[in-house]
Amino acid sequence: MRIFDPHIHMTSRTTDDYARMAAAGVRAVVEPAFWLGQPRTGPGSFADYFDSLIGWEPYRAAQFGIVHHATIALNPKEANDPRCRAVLDLLPRYLDKDRVVAVGEIGYDSITPEEDDAFERQLALAVEYDLPALVHTPHRDKAAGTRRTLEVVAASGIAPERVAVDHLNEVTVATVRDSGCWMGFSIYPETKMSPPRMVEILKQYGPDRMLVNSAADWGVSDPLLTLETGKAMLAAGFTEDDVDRVLWRNPVEFYGQSGRLDLTGAAAGADEPTFAGSSIKRGGS
Ligand SMILES: [Zn+2]
Repeated sequence: MRIFDPHIHMTSRTTDDYARMAAAGVRAVVEPAFWLGQPRTGPGSFADYFDSLIGWEPYRAAQFGIVHHATIALNPKEANDPRCRAVLDLLPRYLDKDRVVAVGEIGYDSITPEEDDAFERQLALAVEYDLPALVHTPHRDKAAGTRRTLEVVAASGIAPERVAVDHLNEVTVATVRDSGCWMGFSIYPETKMSPPRMVEILKQYGPDRMLVNSAADWGVSDPLLTLETGKAMLAAGFTEDDVDRVLWRNPVEFYGQSGRLDLTGAAAGADEPTFAGSSIKRGGS
């Protein structure tokens, strides 16, 4: 099984995790810029963090044969802090970088006017830089928050197939499917989505535009829940090709829209080729 985790915060994980992930078949990850738990007090600490996401972390991942890309944004939670808003002016510098494959995580946390403004401005940046967008949905009042999220996405003019709406569940999946956006699911050990529930959703909605991630970070989370979801799919009668589509080809297709996905360094398994087709990596910068 080859696995591409399209949403994982490796900054908060150890090398033990990288080793376990590599052994489990994880060969590529995308790390979205997010909230670090401790509130940041100004744009400088964001710049250092963004530099780490495109410099240090890909280097660390490469030691384990895992290819690392990032998405860059001012996250919804810190969009509310006036000390951090100047980060929006820093973003263009990063959205030009080779290893940045989307604008994200953007979207709503508490649905404030400040979040509205940051969300709209960053969707406009995604259009301007011709990048996909990774959109976080709020954990509270999820159905209403997701509907509002989709309205803002539609109004921005970005093509729906270039948007992934993440942290979905049984309540929100149909709305997002009908919007034409990609559907992201974060599989957690205790809360939210579990591998068995994910399998039921895949049975009902099929593998089209589906993205499964561990969203592992500094909270209770598990970078191997992508593998567990793949195993649960096989146990439920899905084919290995279905699993490969959901856990590898779908994220390659979604982030490949950036023209910057370069999977050349992904460790080859004994039975499967690396995925470094010329259609994925754009020539030049
Ligand atoms: Zn996240």
